[in-house]
Amino acid sequence: MSKNHCSFCGRPEANVNMLISGIEGYICDDCARQAYEIVRTEFEDKNFKYEITDLDKLKKPKDIYKYLNQYVIGQDEAKKTLAVAVYNHYKRLLQQDKGDDVEIEKSNVIMIGETGTGKTLMARTIAKMLDVPFAIVDATVLTQAGYVGEDVETILTRLLQAADYNVKKAEHGIVFIDEIDKIARKGDNPSITRDVSGEGVQQALLKLLEGTVVNVPPQGGRKHPNQEFIKVNTQNILFIAGGAFAGIDKIISRRINMKPLGYQAQKQEQIDEENILRYAIPTDLRKYGLIPEIIGRLPVLTYLNSLDRETLKRILTEPKNALIKQYKKLFEMDGIQLTINDDALDYIVDKSIEYKLGARGLRSLVEATLKDDMFALPGTKRKKIVVDQKYVEQKLSQNLLTKISKAS
Ligand code: ADP
Repeated sequence: MSKNHCSFCGRPEANVNMLISGIEGYICDDCARQAYEIVRTEFEDKNFKYEITDLDKLKKPKDIYKYLNQYVIGQDEAKKTLAVAVYNHYKRLLQQDKGDDVEIEKSNVIMIGETGTGKTLMARTIAKMLDVPFAIVDATVLTQAGYVGEDVETILTRLLQAADYNVKKAEHGIVFIDEIDKIARKGDNPSITRDVSGEGVQQALLKLLEGTVVNVPPQGGRKHPNQEFIKVNTQNILFIAGGAFAGIDKIISRRINMKPLGYQAQKQEQIDEENILRYAIPTDLRKYGLIPEIIGRLPVLTYLNSLDRETLKRILTEPKNALIKQYKKLFEMDGIQLTINDDALDYIVDKSIEYKLGARGLRSLVEATLKDDMFALPGTKRKKIVVDQKYVEQKLSQNLLTKISKAS
């Protein structure tokens, strides 16, 4: 048996992959790797400083809005609201460091709007711009402690993972809580029976949203008595919640129509029936089933419009990483020039609306249109492909539309 062994873990040469010799002893590959990790995280933690040190360096709301415009089509109101909320959030961090006695509260955001209208996209884009860790969590999987499902602390596990377990970085991150409407309590009145999936989770979320030090299980899942926790302070984490709030339009309409007569007569003709969500106020969320405390901790409320024909068409072509641009690039890499005519785009948009697929459906429609060519053309002499409406019709009926039935 070899007498050389790792001076750190004591394992003999025969039991390790590699033993590196030093002046006084040896280190095995496992210990070297672990040592590197310790140095790396220590070093990064110590040297991580949120870049912003003065107001001049902060991205202004107009800059944030401009950046969002590159990726998100329409949704002007939401973009502006979010731009201001993010700016204020980082101003708050600046002021905190200065120890001012006026305490600015957190500007966590809640966005309401149909699914697929750009809520997640917007939150993700902001995180990308700021270069901060970003995690998306689905509120429907969360349960209050003690029930089957995930504890709210696992939200922070995701953020930690996104930050490569750098706690300081995670503490400046952004969390997007999707489907917040699904944890609404049923009905306006507090339930007599315990509402496990709804109110309990809202209660559990409160502290997180407000700012507190949370014991986070590093690997997620259930808390385990012997598990080592990582302490994460949520005070500077920006929470953005989103939900479709199906049916909230009725609550809003009812409220608007209940205004005293004189007021109603004045306002009536200006009411935009198509986009009733724009009139949403916190009371509507409470009626929908969010508890007042949660609403209070998500003080910035904004809405997203449903996507009309024109917006869907713009989504296909305009964003920096628009679908059509992506497919053009893919063909271009094979030296093939892809042209998609306007009537083809219109047809794709029409089908997306007809089949109620929204913006998310655009991708599968374009994919189904071009799939055959992406398979057949590379390696041939064809250098050009022109897609018109007829072509889309033919490909979609072959490849996709027979598989999906029209949503009612
Ligand atoms: P939500 O979170 O509202 O359910 P997403 O943000 O996940 O919807 O949108 C789904 C996809 O649809 C996005 O990844 C994006 O490709 C596209 N999309 C939706 N809305 C927009 C928009 N306003 N501008 C650009 N793309 C959009």
